[in-house]
Amino acid sequence: MSICELQKPIIIPGPCAIESREHVIFTAEMALARGLEIGRLTIEKPRTRPGWKGVGEEGIPWLIEAAEMGLTPGTEVMLPERAEEVINAMSKIRGRKRLYLWLGARNQNDEIQKAVGSIIKGEDWIILGIKNQPWSDENHWEGIIEHVLNGGADKSQLLLIHRGFAPSLNGFRNVPDFAMAMRIRRSSGLPMLVDPSHIGGNTENVLKIARIAMEYREDSSKFDGLQIEVHPDPKKAKTDANQQLTWGQFDRLMDDLKIRNHLTVAP
Ligand code: PEP
Ligand code: MN
Repeated sequence: MSICELQKPIIIPGPCAIESREHVIFTAEMALARGLEIGRLTIEKPRTRPGWKGVGEEGIPWLIEAAEMGLTPGTEVMLPERAEEVINAMSKIRGRKRLYLWLGARNQNDEIQKAVGSIIKGEDWIILGIKNQPWSDENHWEGIIEHVLNGGADKSQLLLIHRGFAPSLNGFRNVPDFAMAMRIRRSSGLPMLVDPSHIGGNTENVLKIARIAMEYREDSSKFDGLQIEVHPDPKKAKTDANQQLTWGQFDRLMDDLKIRNHLTVAP
């Protein structure tokens, strides 16, 4: 199983962070009803300032439930130990399974990057996403990919996510550099998704950036999909309440972008 087998474009929706078991089941149902393969179901939440950090290991059994429903659960991993815990729990599922992990923008310790690369070595059922670091530096972003590969990950397991660069400017939470993202897509040969949620910072910007990103073309190259925050009730979200879409907004966006071809069952 590899990334080549995923539906294109690769669309990964789900809340900023999962808040309960019900939240996971609901998100899995919503994603599956739309024929989508991977859910953003993160149990970890890095914080700029101290605060709620996600449900942590309590959420691992819920990820397993989502996997048993047929969804590929996706979570950020901040430490190699947590990646191992999730992988061990997922390993117990019999039959076909797939797991999606990602390294967040703030995870800029090359020892961690390499260790996570090493943990997924030879595990072709695990996909690892790599977000760009918060500051704009092409060399650094390429270096993260190299650290993960040095750890032993295979290119067929990796995808990249552009979430923009600090500082905030012109109302955007992080400023995108689509040309740089395209260069790295080309030089690495890896799929490149866009995270419009952490670029936009509010729903109006998120919708705008998602459209611009998916319409962006360089010769025949384009972005490979979106990792996007969608919450059952964004106003009540524990984190990033301003930028999370409702499932209705998500559906309208997919319609606008004509990527409703994933839809197998009417919502
Ligand atoms: C996230 O995706 O949940 C997140 C915290 O974003 P970033 O790593 O891009 O800051
Ligand atoms: Mn978020």
